Amino acid sequence: MTTRAVLALGSNLGERDDTLAAGVEQLVDHPQVRLSKMSPMVQTKPVGGPEQPDYLNMVIEVETDFEPYALLAHCQGVEQAHHRRRAVRWGPRTLDVDIITYGDLVCDDPQLTLPHPRAAQRAFVLQPWAWMDNSAQVAGRPVASLAAEADDLPGLKLYERDV
Ligand code: AMP
Repeated sequence: MTTRAVLALGSNLGERDDTLAAGVEQLVDHPQVRLSKMSPMVQTKPVGGPEQPDYLNMVIEVETDFEPYALLAHCQGVEQAHHRRRAVRWGPRTLDVDIITYGDLVCDDPQLTLPHPRAAQRAFVLQPWAWMDNSAQVAGRPVASLAAEADDLPGLKLYERDV
């Protein structure tokens, strides 16, 4: 069965835009994952954790034949390919990939919580998501209006790559 899922990517170490672009390629370079929509990249101030560089974030929508936990394992495999450091909670990381929604599935397992528990408050997920899909909803509310209310919205701007 094919399910539509929204994935969020973040990076705040190294060549962040190349990392996000490579992460998207790796996520969809699998017969069970097809890219359907992609947001622009946004630059955001870190939320919580130690002092650290700004993040680049983006979201994608995929069609997937993976079951939820298999999709999580796939996302974690892509993170690990980028040598993500897990030493400091909410600390800097080369690449973070989260599952934001998997169809309409609601799940409160700490290993896979869906919709992602912090997604509905975080502009760094909500704003690129709203730009990608203006009609998207989460937790019964339009993503665009949740983004407008998010505390971290003032620290967010559209990212334009230096050429
Ligand atoms: P983080 O370090 O913030 O990326 O958290 C990683 C942990 O969150 C992993 O142990 C995952 O099993 C767990 N987790 C729970 N829900 C989700 C989700 N929706 N997407 C990705 N990871 C999740």
